[in-house]
Amino acid sequence: MRTPIVIGNWKMHGTVAEARTLAGAIREAIKRPRGVQVVVCPPFTALAAVAEVLAGSPIQLGAQTCHHEPAGAHTGEISPPMLVELGCRWVLLGHSERRKEIGESDEVINLKLRAALAHGLTPVLCVGETAEERRQGFTFTTVEGQLRAGLAGVTATQLGKVVLAYEPVWAIGTGVNATPAQAGEVHGYLRGLLSELGSKEVAQSIRILYGGSVKAENVDGLVAESEVDGALVGGASLNAPGFVAIVRKAARSGAAAKE
Ligand code: PEP
Repeated sequence: MRTPIVIGNWKMHGTVAEARTLAGAIREAIKRPRGVQVVVCPPFTALAAVAEVLAGSPIQLGAQTCHHEPAGAHTGEISPPMLVELGCRWVLLGHSERRKEIGESDEVINLKLRAALAHGLTPVLCVGETAEERRQGFTFTTVEGQLRAGLAGVTATQLGKVVLAYEPVWAIGTGVNATPAQAGEVHGYLRGLLSELGSKEVAQSIRILYGGSVKAENVDGLVAESEVDGALVGGASLNAPGFVAIVRKAARSGAAAKE
């Protein structure tokens, strides 16, 4: 059985003080998460403060991206060892906002993913099609290309340490989530590809999260899908009660559906 994960992606929101308050409220509400792993990814500026707030808590810390080099002349960038030093155990990679706004290519995302693994961070590789790609029937081609390129050169052992997030671009921040059936279909396809890249056993152990307008009101159906192993949550993770409700529902529905 795969333990579901709920990850909060705070994006570029919040002062350090606000991040402390949000992390404190989540920590207070989720003391001993059972049947679910919880991760929050604050902006870089708030990582140290949130690490302090979460010290001793089972809620883990992640970053929203990283550079692929450990150090060097890369103005404005943050390296995997820097994140590890701050207490991060996770890093989001290939988020569609970075693919679009920063122009991150699959090749760069792959370098980052391999660097994250080399430094002991769990990479969450995000893949997903645009509305136009879905309309034209390219959903599977798009996610397959992103998956294969993102995981190029990853060994069979390393593959088992990767987490995937299927985030259709048309569902991110739009209020329109994929239906459980749409998510289940793509997740099943991705898991088939993972079997090919590694083995059936490894593929069965990899968590594939759904992301895109997840909220407390729609998470039940999504995580009840046998192929959906939790959620990557943007907007709704900025509100502690809303995020906590998602975590509770993911723990319950996930465990019930997959036992
Ligand atoms: C995201 O940014 O990863 C995301 C899924 O955002 P939202 O939940 O706001 O759609």
